Amino acid sequence: MSETLETLVPSQATPNPLLMAWQTPFETPPFAEIAPEHFLPAFEQAFADHTAEITAITYDPAVPDFANTITALERAGKLLSKVSAVFYDLVSAHSNPALLEIDKEVSPRMARHWNPIMMNAVLFGRIALLHDNQATLGLTPEQTRLLERTYTRFRRAGAGLDETAKNRMAEINERLAHLGTAFSHHLLGDEQDWFMELGEADCDGLPDSFVAAAKAAAQERGMAGKAIVTLSRSSVEPFLRSSTRRDLREKVFKAFTARGDNNNDNDNNAAIVEILSLREESAKLLGFSTFAAYRLEDSMAKTPEAVRGLLERVWKPARARALADRDALQALVAEEGGNFALAPWDWRYYAEKLRQRRANFDDAAIKPYLVLDHMIDAAFDCAHRLFGLSFSERKDVPVWHPDVRVWEVKDAAGRHNALFYGDYFARPSKRSGAWMTSLRDQQKLDGAVAPLIINVCNFSKGADGQPSLLSPDDARTLFHEFGHGLHGMLSDVFYPSLSGTSVFTDFVELPSQLYEHWQEQPQVLRQFAKHYQTGEPLPDDLLQRFIAARKFNQGFATVEFVSSALIDLEFHTQPASASRDVRAFERNELEKIGMPAEISLRHRPQQFGHIFSGDHYAAGYYSYMWSEVMDADAATAKRLHDDIYSSGGSRDPEDAYVAFRGREPEPDALLRRRGLLETSEAA
Ligand SMILES: [Zn+2]
Repeated sequence: MSETLETLVPSQATPNPLLMAWQTPFETPPFAEIAPEHFLPAFEQAFADHTAEITAITYDPAVPDFANTITALERAGKLLSKVSAVFYDLVSAHSNPALLEIDKEVSPRMARHWNPIMMNAVLFGRIALLHDNQATLGLTPEQTRLLERTYTRFRRAGAGLDETAKNRMAEINERLAHLGTAFSHHLLGDEQDWFMELGEADCDGLPDSFVAAAKAAAQERGMAGKAIVTLSRSSVEPFLRSSTRRDLREKVFKAFTARGDNNNDNDNNAAIVEILSLREESAKLLGFSTFAAYRLEDSMAKTPEAVRGLLERVWKPARARALADRDALQALVAEEGGNFALAPWDWRYYAEKLRQRRANFDDAAIKPYLVLDHMIDAAFDCAHRLFGLSFSERKDVPVWHPDVRVWEVKDAAGRHNALFYGDYFARPSKRSGAWMTSLRDQQKLDGAVAPLIINVCNFSKGADGQPSLLSPDDARTLFHEFGHGLHGMLSDVFYPSLSGTSVFTDFVELPSQLYEHWQEQPQVLRQFAKHYQTGEPLPDDLLQRFIAARKFNQGFATVEFVSSALIDLEFHTQPASASRDVRAFERNELEKIGMPAEISLRHRPQQFGHIFSGDHYAAGYYSYMWSEVMDADAATAKRLHDDIYSSGGSRDPEDAYVAFRGREPEPDALLRRRGLLETSEAA
């Protein structure tokens, strides 16, 4: 334990808001009262409570039944869920050095808490007995699913192993928890450290909206009056698209792709090597040949071979399209008198020029029409039309940062349904990316509990009171995360562990990707895309060009994504000894698949938080594409609601999808939508 932490432990006399009932609207966390020093004692209390509950269930003298074992497990750990939800929201969206120190301590402590529960042989014996006799228990479909999921979770955690294997497993879990936390802290550290100041001469080609956002970013870092590029994707990508300064594009691109790979204190290479080796060892302890085989057993895809099959089927046409696009971009460089080979930091810039030429459309032209607040209204309006939800902003709900907004969500009958928190702007205290999470999940076990759902994004803030303007990608991200949000808000299950997004990773992206389509509907854009200064609606020809331009550069986007998914799969299917030199492994794998030299991975290994900050998407990054395969536009709102958004993990996802779609998923539709099945060049 570090010295700082010991001084942070408060005296017993100070009331700890995390341990009290919350007297706030909707019993939401009172963020203003919660300080870093409250977390360690609250976690200790929560661990102790939970352990006592588990002991009582384990040694209940009554014969095991569904209520005294499975339902009792669902009821256990309330305080732990409550404290964890607040803590991880803050660590991800608004951290500070004190919270990061606590995170370092809590993550292995969390593993030490869960290990003896998930590997408890007596408890597992009770669950296994019920599982073996489930046909005689008279369970509802949701209860059957819960029993199956509970049994599977314990089995996969090693509850059936011998003592020696369990002890080793516990050590591995604790070490992996430490490494995952270190990985994400390193990434945040490199992102916080770097910025590039833009002088007058450095702004050539940059749209006004970018310069305004660059000023706001400087202001956020206490450099008012200046303008900076940061390593946030919403700063980097538009810069690479529009800056005419090839030298600066190279500088920004290199800094962005070097995050976590700088040979400094934040370097992630050693962590990756150790993570992969420990994952392999734990998979073997559990009887699997590789971590990917272990991980995918509990997914819709089921096997590494199925995942590889999908990715390879998409890879070939995507790569061919990307190579053709590369030649067109190189020709454009030559035409402009450039005497250089196209480099990765040139791709977005020339692709944007090519798009302007072919589709007479560029992102910067539509940005003034994509005002963040209007796009939020659009996302809400679609949810109203589809599901009857209505949203009204609440100013009385405590938040963790002044930029966070809260809406009360009511259902079609006007009943309170959820609170929705939107935290949209990039800032140094927030990790990169965009995500949905919750402060409380929907359930009905002991009376109806309304969920508290969060969306976090990293959009650029408008400077000096100007509205925030979104790129088409940002607008799509907003709808994507809101789709996850709806999965949490519309959840209508009985048991908390089946709530909302508690589904297979390769199913969880379906509600979010389905929702992206509405953002691109002409009627939605006509209504909500209005110029931020004049209020004029998006001109119809620009709208048509925007829609036509959607298939543009899909070779690049697909190559960027699929290569990342393939390298994730290779990391977790090859022996860990093969990736002792992470950079060499990356180079070799990219060479093997014929990665075009002008495109880089969407996530290089050292910054691939999806797969190394924790194991949620490990050997699972393909999930986005698997879900996209399932994603279909021929949905009716009623079936969407019943089969996808409200059923949480209460059903087998394959059954849910087939019920919704009427058949099993197939990938041709994906290729067609991305324009990768057509023979003519995309526009
Ligand atoms: Zn998602």
